[in-house]
Amino acid sequence: MTKVLVLGGRFGALTSAYTLRRIAGDRVEIKLINKDRFSYFRPGLPHVALGLRDPEELRIDLSSALQEKGIAFTQGEVEKIDANSRTVYYKGPNGSLREEDYDYLMVGVGAHLATDMIGGWDQYGYSVCEPEFAVKLRERLRNFKGGRITIGSAPFYQGKNPKPKVPENFVPRADSACEGPVFELSLMLHGYFKSQGVLDKVKVTVYSPGEYLSDLSPESRKAVAEIYKQLGVELVHNFRLKEVREREIVDEGGKKLDSDLSILLPPYTGNPALKSSSKDLTDDGGFIPTDMNMQSINYDNVYAVGDANSITVPKLGYLAVQTGRIASEHLSSRLGVNTKVEKYYPTIVCVADNPLEGYAVSVKDDTWYGGSTSIAQPAAVNHLKKELFTKYFMWTKGDMALEKFLGSW
Ligand SMILES: Cc1cc2nc3c(=O)[nH]c(=O)nc-3n(C[C@H](O)[C@H](O)[C@H](O)COP(=O)(O)OP(=O)(O)OC[C@H]3O[C@@H](n4cnc5c(N)ncnc54)[C@H](O)[C@@H]3O)c2cc1C
Repeated sequence: MTKVLVLGGRFGALTSAYTLRRIAGDRVEIKLINKDRFSYFRPGLPHVALGLRDPEELRIDLSSALQEKGIAFTQGEVEKIDANSRTVYYKGPNGSLREEDYDYLMVGVGAHLATDMIGGWDQYGYSVCEPEFAVKLRERLRNFKGGRITIGSAPFYQGKNPKPKVPENFVPRADSACEGPVFELSLMLHGYFKSQGVLDKVKVTVYSPGEYLSDLSPESRKAVAEIYKQLGVELVHNFRLKEVREREIVDEGGKKLDSDLSILLPPYTGNPALKSSSKDLTDDGGFIPTDMNMQSINYDNVYAVGDANSITVPKLGYLAVQTGRIASEHLSSRLGVNTKVEKYYPTIVCVADNPLEGYAVSVKDDTWYGGSTSIAQPAAVNHLKKELFTKYFMWTKGDMALEKFLGSW
């Protein structure tokens, strides 16, 4: 039987594994390797930081969830892929070195959060990108009695060459890998401090390594600037974070911003496991360039999905799910299943929630890629959308079969 190995355990990898099982059925044996037994619904982590959810509510046990769908699970940290010998080398939970061969490989190990590139991160840095970061921020917020808060993303180390085989306008150059969570947190914190009765003691500054939310249309950016004016949020562009100190943050040029609490999205780089893999599998940033079917440009039995693929810009769950679906549809059709392969079309689709003030901003925008859709809509019903999306993800244990339809609500 054809053996498919899937690497990773969040939006990209889970969508690939579940979709492939659904479409290709008994034609394939599927095994998924992820470094942790548990996977977390990442878009819910800002809610954990505000004390609105516990991480356990967002947790999926991959060992049982995948087994229920006939997908084998192995816990292990991938060290490298030898694409020529079709072998993945990984470390088991007890530290033992293991290897696994494959007929087809789906790589969904995401990007790397390079916290080590930010000076002072361990002592003074806060984030929401992983459950442990969100819990640490929750504790800090509980004790925060007022002062200056900075929120922003550190630079994105996007690869340049070789380029993926997709239309050039689908892969713009980006200063930040993903600013949606920054926008969402800036709204959420307003509601949080208001509910705590300390709003007048807090001054929030949002910064960006380039122009803030440059992936949205000029009209949407103007609307966001207007919202910030009303909320009293200061906006700083072109601030490439380098260091976090006790009471300030510093950028690469030595510019400083006062900051008693520094919340950041760490720099995004290529995953170290991919950087150690066959050299011609990745671009110079450590991301895998593919064609429109998510097939590696040099190894046609390797697919890359989600944040690990060089074509997904910005690094977005919506694109991770779309690329995961396409990879599995394409592989299934190669294996003889009569199935339609969706055409990749990037669009920024996300919902920035503000639960404590009862609304969310729903964004749908493809202007960065040359399209004409530009929606950024604050509404109470959009908060409900985010709630339903979270519940749907947890209920299906990460199987986003209907996301294609939900994403266009
Ligand atoms: C706080 C936050 C909020 C967000 N909110 C939204 C949102 O509302 N909407 C949206 O569309 N996007 C959102 N995003 C972006 C979205 O979460 C990512 O784009 C998405 O998670 C990418 O999915 P992925 O599966 O490709 O990679 P990842 O989510 O990075 O998952 C990678 C997986 O691979 C595993 N892994 C990594 N390295 C190894 C290794 N060496 N060996 C084995 N396993 C490994 C990891 O454990 C993980 O399970 C948010 C991002 C953040 C940080």
